Order: sequence, then structure tokens, then C-alpha cells
Amino acid sequence: MTRALITGITGQDGHHLTKLLLELGYEVFGVTNGEQKSQEESFTKLFPHVKLLEGDLTDFSSLVTIIRQTKPDEVYNLGAISFVGISFKMPEVTANVTGLGFLRLLEAIRKVGLEDNVKIYQASSSEMYGKVREIPQNELTPFYPRSPYGVAKTFAHYTAVNYREAYDMHISCGILFNHEGEYRGHEFVTRKISHHVALIKNGAIKDFTLGDLSPQRDWGYAGDYVQAMHTMLQQSSGDDFVIASGETHSVRDFLTLALKIAGLKGDLDSYVKFDKEMIRPSEVDLLIGDPSKAKNDLNWVAATKFEELVRIMVENDLNLTKQA
Ligand code: GDP
Repeated sequence: MTRALITGITGQDGHHLTKLLLELGYEVFGVTNGEQKSQEESFTKLFPHVKLLEGDLTDFSSLVTIIRQTKPDEVYNLGAISFVGISFKMPEVTANVTGLGFLRLLEAIRKVGLEDNVKIYQASSSEMYGKVREIPQNELTPFYPRSPYGVAKTFAHYTAVNYREAYDMHISCGILFNHEGEYRGHEFVTRKISHHVALIKNGAIKDFTLGDLSPQRDWGYAGDYVQAMHTMLQQSSGDDFVIASGETHSVRDFLTLALKIAGLKGDLDSYVKFDKEMIRPSEVDLLIGDPSKAKNDLNWVAATKFEELVRIMVENDLNLTKQA
């Protein structure tokens, strides 16, 4: 049985990836830091056979113990302070967890002596492109991060490249563009929109607040994106891949479509008020990925299109708010 170890397992991608790996017959282990009890409980309810081990990307010895105990064939590093907005408020923690955390994980793997046997996935991010140097962005586009989160992800990305070259380790980086779905955290704009639109539809609230509606993102469905993670580790060597839909849409587009799918008529201003607290010290205005390398080498495409993604999220939240 192939053994996979996932950091950040209780997050959005952890849910989708765990489901996929269990379906493929893997034995799955997860790292949790014990701080998000309710998230862990709901994860365990969904996946009772997954063993959660207490550890933290900021604690080297816990990582060594976990690697030694689980002896994984594949390691997926999904653990991070993953919200750009928070990273401005906690830049040091972000650098420590999201950046240095991956270095610690690699060093723990080397310490245990598994560097020649284990295949590693690093969750790199389109936020590394920040103030984009070209359109669309591909694996060779220079990085220009615009947040402590983007800077930390860039550090981890180059650490992956360096360890691949220096120690010949099988490390792949998925440069994932924004990917969303029913497990998305409520702090991200897509989920914030689908959740609040559902509340309006069910009569619980009249309006809600958002920041800048003009930024454009390349949004895809997380369930599709975890398949790319797994496929990367089945290749003969590690590499970097842009994982994206190849389309871009504004926050305003997402909102407009969400209101339409929920059957809410009238102009946007009657449902959404402006919240200046949501404005970031520096913004990423436009992201659009070029996923051709993933298509050619991994035979991967983003199957779920934008409209379907918005529909999945709005319908999921309509059901949840109805139940509540
Ligand atoms: P990000 O691309 O990783 O930063 O993903 P987010 O979902 O957090 O944000 C996507 C875009 O939506 C960013 O440009 C935000 O500035 C913008 N945005 C506008 N209003 C909001 C809001 O109320 N919450 C969040 N999270 N983002 C917002």
C-alpha cells in the first residue's frame, strides 16, 4: 500500500486530496497542530481511517518524528498560512510556516534518510507572480510577489528547486492558481460571496460587504487541481507546473454570476456595500495562467469551467444555509 503524508490535511486541498488518494487505495497520514479542533473533528468524521499526527511546520523535531513513524512514499506539503490578507497582519508567522516550514520538512526527510525514496509535492502559488511580468503566466515567468504570503511561497518554491538540483530529490511544485469549491475557507472572496448570497436568498440578511471588485483571478475547481498534484508525483522526476484554467474573471464577475445563479435580481449595489478594511496594502490586479505544460506532460486540464464552479459553490451554500 502506498503511504502518503499530507501537511495541512484539514484544509480545502487536504480534503480533496485525501478523498482522491483513498479512492486510489493509499494509506493516508496527516499532520495537524491541534489548534483547530472543530476542523479536525469534521475531517475525522469524513475520513475516519486517516491517521492524524500532531506536529507543526514550525517544529523540526515533530516533523522528524512524524516522518520516521510514517515512512511515507509521497509527501504533500499543503500546510501554510494561506490567506493573503492575514499574511499582511502576521508577516513573520507567515514566513516561518509558509516559507521556512517547507525547508524544515525537507531537512526532516533528509535527517531520517528518506531523501532518495520519497516523492514530494510543494504547493507553490500564483501569488508568486504578483505584479505580473507577462500575460499569461507560465513556468518561466519571473516572480514578483506582492504580499508576505507571496514572498514566503517564493522562498519555498526556490528551496524546492535548489533541493531538487543539490540533492537530486524528487520534488515537484504545482504553481496553483486560485482554486475554490465547497471546502473553501470563508475568508476567501469566492466563499464569502457564495455564503452571503445564500444567506440573502434565504432571507437571513439583506446585504454584505466586500473590498475591491476589480481584481481578476484565474479560478478553477480544487477537486480538479488535486489530481494534478498526484499526477506530478507519478512522473519519473520532479518538475514545476502551472495549474490553472487559462481564463480570468473579476471579483465583480464572480459576484454577478453568483447572484444570478441564486435568482437574485437587481443591481449589485443593493446587495453589496464597500468595506475599506478589505483593501490590501499592495494588491495583485490580474492573474491568468498558461497551463499548456501540464496539458502536454501530465495530460491534465481544468475540467470544471467558471460558471460550473460558481454554481457548485452557490448551490452548496444554499443547501447548507437551508439546513442551518
Ligand atoms: P487571493 O487571490 O489568494 O488573495 O484570494 P482571495 O479570495 O482572498 O482574494 C481574491 C481577490 O478578491 C483579491 O484581489 C482581494 O483583494 C479581492 N477581494 C475583494 N473583496 C474581498 C473580500 O471581502 N475578501 C477577500 N478575501 N478578498 C476580497
